[in-house]
Amino acid sequence: MPNSFIGLQYKMEDNYRHAGLRKKLTELLVQKGISNQEILGAIATIPRHLFLDKAFVEAAYEDKAFQIGEGQTISQPYTVAFQTQLLNVERNHKVLEVGTGSGYQASVLSYLGARIFTIERQKKLHDKTKPLLNKLGFKNIKFFFGDGYLGLPAYAPFDRIIVTAGAPYIPEELIKQLKVDGLLVIPIDDQNGQKMKRIIKISDTEIKTEDHGDFAFVPMLQGKNW
Ligand code: SAH
Repeated sequence: MPNSFIGLQYKMEDNYRHAGLRKKLTELLVQKGISNQEILGAIATIPRHLFLDKAFVEAAYEDKAFQIGEGQTISQPYTVAFQTQLLNVERNHKVLEVGTGSGYQASVLSYLGARIFTIERQKKLHDKTKPLLNKLGFKNIKFFFGDGYLGLPAYAPFDRIIVTAGAPYIPEELIKQLKVDGLLVIPIDDQNGQKMKRIIKISDTEIKTEDHGDFAFVPMLQGKNW
């Protein structure tokens, strides 16, 4: 089916072939253990090839991470689906994303009906992604150029926080900006690589941490890069 989700201007650039490639990708994600139908729906609908440079249509629908410039990557579709599933997002949740990158993860969260606040520390990526997602017709996403270690105190508290870069530790500010009963999904470095963690804020002073396996992300870096 042609994609009725995206803005008019981009309809021409999304066709039956892309839809077919997306369907195959969702089937692969089901085999890998993704079961949330809404998330599978997002992946079957969102034109991931438009988040990459034009030459990479085929690669866009392989289950692989991909270079997006400034030494950064668009996360692998499985990783996006897995993190999103762990995040347990509900409609109208306020969600903070650290690491806008290509905007693909933000668009998946937007598709689920959440209100997204996304931060990117690389100015060039921020400047490129914001207009692209606006043109694609994604609503409910606000873009910020800044350092994700600091979160967005002016917009806190958040129901959910997702970090899409590998962090050396759990940033204190992000816990502060999370609601009680809120969830933070974040890959954390340890001696054996990056481990996906889900942190539940039990009270203003307590958190509980769950482990969810090995992943590979670009590093979460301090400060902004103009
Ligand atoms: N969610 C992105 C994944 C991009 S890779 C997507 O769907 O494409 C991770 C991104 O995190 C990179 O763009 C990197 O520049 C950014 N990043 C790393 N450290 C950061 C920080 N402290 N604050 C904000 N963004 C950061």
